[in-house]
Amino acid sequence: MATVSLERIVKRFPDGTLAVDGVDLEIFDREFLVVVGPSGCGKSTTLRLIAGLETCTSGEVRIGGRSVNAVAPRDRDVAMVFQSYALYPQLSVYRNLTFGLKLRFGGGVLARGLRKIFQPRRSAELARLRDGIDLQVRQAAQRLSIEHLLNKKPHQLSGGECQRVALGRAIVREPAAFLLDEPLSNLDTKLRQQMRGELRRLHRELQTTIVYVTHDQVDAMTLGDRVAVMNEGRVVQVGRPLEIYQRPANLFVAQFFGTAPINLVPGTVIRTAAGCEFSGHKLRLVLNEDESQVLHRLFSVGETRVKVVLGFRPESVTRTDISPAAVEESAGNTGLEFGSNVFEVDRLGESTLAHLQFDDVESQGESSGSLVVRLPAESEVEPGDRLRLEIDRGKILLFDPESGQNLLKEIK
Ligand code: ATP
Repeated sequence: MATVSLERIVKRFPDGTLAVDGVDLEIFDREFLVVVGPSGCGKSTTLRLIAGLETCTSGEVRIGGRSVNAVAPRDRDVAMVFQSYALYPQLSVYRNLTFGLKLRFGGGVLARGLRKIFQPRRSAELARLRDGIDLQVRQAAQRLSIEHLLNKKPHQLSGGECQRVALGRAIVREPAAFLLDEPLSNLDTKLRQQMRGELRRLHRELQTTIVYVTHDQVDAMTLGDRVAVMNEGRVVQVGRPLEIYQRPANLFVAQFFGTAPINLVPGTVIRTAAGCEFSGHKLRLVLNEDESQVLHRLFSVGETRVKVVLGFRPESVTRTDISPAAVEESAGNTGLEFGSNVFEVDRLGESTLAHLQFDDVESQGESSGSLVVRLPAESEVEPGDRLRLEIDRGKILLFDPESGQNLLKEIK
């Protein structure tokens, strides 16, 4: 069991590509950390740097507190599982599982013979470990429900079965940490879901550190104790899944997460005598005292307006048929209402997504002016309908349009 620490890790490949650009990351003992980000952001390279399959241009990798920069991959006590499984095609599942252990506990006949002569005590110790391999492999196979596959060859297995064997091969090594690189990406949706459950169970049972790389936001939300979001070689946010979803550090993270995209409305924060107000696409929103206080810092002396981007998730909107005045009263000034026109409806089964065009002539040309709203599955809504909606006032986000930073992160 081990912590894994990355300190200002940089990886520049010989062709000049800067794949990892100063990553600081602390992965706790027995933690399941998911590293997520778009293709090419440097996730796999980061994992390979931990495994020792790449060397750092600068920075330090520590496993269990010791620097491993100069330690060979096989001596780092980590097991890596690749997207491609990397099974030996000519060996049976059983031999795929025993292969690494046999090498570790004595190697081939010649190596064992020599050790018997020159290191008799070590030789006896390794022989005992070799005797335990069969039991170890059968236990791992049972844990992964692959006992019935032990005599098959990899080409006789399905993708999910290959994935289990690859995991089994990592488990039997009993490493200090598992490094998993997109292990579920070759599986269909149903199997992927099932394997997610199995991975969570395995993590609970094995109580070991797992670093899991994926570009899939569902993997990130459902698997990790914490999630590290990467973009362009950097870690842009680390946090618990829900925290990342609800309090994204910036526009990139906000847009990366969400099965339906977050709604973004460009607009302006106006400083008034009473506080601050958001205005954009005919949406007017009086900001509360805490929000106003934070936003006041954005204004230079004499300035009364600053550009921002308002963000809210599709599920943070409800349909309402009551009048704007009634919304204001009933919600204690926390309601926000606007009318919009539906141009597309996606019925997903568990909910319905309505895509709407803002009813807003003033903002033409400013942005697409569309948004998406998640409604109950049975909602009566058709293209052409006009909806009256209310945004959950507590769930709004405000971003700096230049830097993308979440302006309200410190208070929400
Ligand atoms: P994916 O999800 O597509 O696997 P990733 O986030 O894992 O992407 P990496 O594989 O870490 O990304 O690659 C990061 C960047 O480094 C990419 O621009 C990639 O093209 C580049 N890269 C990776 N390996 C090498 C290499 N050996 N030489 C040069 N550039 C490389």
